[in-house]
Amino acid sequence: MSERSVVVCGAGGFIGGALVADLRADRARVRAVDLKPLEEWYQRFDDVENLQLDLRDKSACEQAVAGVEEVYNLAADMGGMGFIENNKAACMLSVLINTHLLGAAQAADVSHFFFASSACVYAADKQVDHDVVPLKEEDAYPAMPEDGYGWEKLFSERMCRHFAEDYGLVTRVARYHNVYGPHGTWDGGREKAPAAICRKVIEAVTTGDHRIEIWGDGHQTRSFMYVDDCVLGTRRIMESEIEEPINLGSDQLVTINQLVSMVEQIAGVTLERRYDLDAPKGVNGRNSDNAQIRKHLGWEPSIRLQDGLEKTYAWIHDQYRARGQ
Ligand code: NAD
Repeated sequence: MSERSVVVCGAGGFIGGALVADLRADRARVRAVDLKPLEEWYQRFDDVENLQLDLRDKSACEQAVAGVEEVYNLAADMGGMGFIENNKAACMLSVLINTHLLGAAQAADVSHFFFASSACVYAADKQVDHDVVPLKEEDAYPAMPEDGYGWEKLFSERMCRHFAEDYGLVTRVARYHNVYGPHGTWDGGREKAPAAICRKVIEAVTTGDHRIEIWGDGHQTRSFMYVDDCVLGTRRIMESEIEEPINLGSDQLVTINQLVSMVEQIAGVTLERRYDLDAPKGVNGRNSDNAQIRKHLGWEPSIRLQDGLEKTYAWIHDQYRARGQ
């Protein structure tokens, strides 16, 4: 049983909501903070303290961290490739959240600070081949991350490092690789590939128009981590002695075409594929090297993509139906 008091920033979002669910089940005292109105949060619990705050403001950050021992910072203005390629300034402004939260945490004598970084910090020249060599933590330097979003994450990682070195704040940084699962964005332009593909397959099945549009040529490769693995890894990294940014991702590499095939199999259909070669598609290949996390934690994400996709598909299917579509 945990007696810790924690704040989850970005708690109205996909991973933040799942983290709150897990922490509260573990009987931590949880404060949940997000910019969005409470009715728009993916998961909301009445037995935790829910606050709507704009964490770009310093005073909001001070309010968020007051009286807590641990800060989980998952708040960011973000989305899938379609969003981050077209909203670079908005993505970079999340630096205000990290800056003020770190400053407030240090001033309030918070014990531990977690920052959700991203595989988008990795240098572009390490991700040109489809048949990618998994990314090791050291591959972030020399720096040439994803423009906008990736630079903000890399800069914020460095801030965490220097707050630890200069002020003694214990900081932990995980580089998430594509996270998917229920209770996340599945339409509207910020959704990521697994949710977008589930939605498109559901639309095709529902309308009887058995065609699907795929961004890029479908040969780009990725790994996808189910949200339960992400939450477990986040908590283990927070509790660990790992001082450097570390990969938190699956190393089950698939092409986008294979991802589509898996979702088709779940739905029991085969669709005609159309490839939009002008759509944002990100790097050609990306995978997580898990040697470090295995070494430090004796653990790595292991939920099979097929199993996680079945749950994700079922949840998006329910949302789609609930909208009367
Ligand atoms: P999400 O968009 O569902 O959640 C982020 C939340 O932050 C949103 O609810 C948003 O309202 C909130 N937020 C944005 N600006 C805010 C502000 N000014 N004040 C307070 N709250 C604010 O995204 P997610 O997928 O849950 O991602 C969580 C974290 O993990 C983010 O930092 C993201 O960059 C990182 N990450 C996610 C993935 C992924 O695949 N989902 C991959 C790499 C890194």
